[in-house]
Amino acid sequence: MVFTDRRGGVSRGPYESLNLGILTDDDQESVSQNRRQLAAALGCDTERVAMGWQVHGHEILEWREPPRNGGFADAGAELRKVDGHTTTLTGVPLLVLVADCMPVALVGSGRVAMLHCGWRGLAAGILEKGLELFDEPPRAVLGPCIGACCYEVGEEVLVEFDDLQGVANGRMLSLSLVAQQKLLARGVTKIESFPLCTSCRPDLFFSHRRDDGVTGRQAGLVWLT
Ligand SMILES: [Zn+2]
Repeated sequence: MVFTDRRGGVSRGPYESLNLGILTDDDQESVSQNRRQLAAALGCDTERVAMGWQVHGHEILEWREPPRNGGFADAGAELRKVDGHTTTLTGVPLLVLVADCMPVALVGSGRVAMLHCGWRGLAAGILEKGLELFDEPPRAVLGPCIGACCYEVGEEVLVEFDDLQGVANGRMLSLSLVAQQKLLARGVTKIESFPLCTSCRPDLFFSHRRDDGVTGRQAGLVWLT
């Protein structure tokens, strides 16, 4: 399992430097180069990295074979519109792209899942759908995301989580606490999370909110060996 940060790539300007998001105004060749570098560092084939076209929904795609013309290797490939991935295959890294949203890895025996969790996905139940894939409660690892220090939201967002205790301080919402409460309520006891806020750390992370949308994407990946 890996959560990337923005260091170590070739992109410039607001995308400096390991931008993995092709749907940004970054130079496409730089993004492709960054993706190849990441795959090489992980010792995997770019062709075997599974990803989707994220729509802030709750659909999870089961990969029963490695991707063909995967969108990670080929920027022009057609992607399924999903926000989560799961597989029982070995050597198929599941990837989500984020820039404030939370990448969540679920690891069970013989199965992994990677979920793109923003407030919309969490409200739509993507975590609960992910947990249904596992016979036993999996281990959960919550990647770096925007913290309650920087994530002011409107009433329409807060109301989605008003059944949860202590996840917001006024209008400042913690995606991490939302996820942790949802996981605990469903029997997940092994939960790890990163204390770093993507918005507070421009040296380490891309942040959609901080950079007003002009920013790159970091990734969460998980795979079975
Ligand atoms: Zn912050």
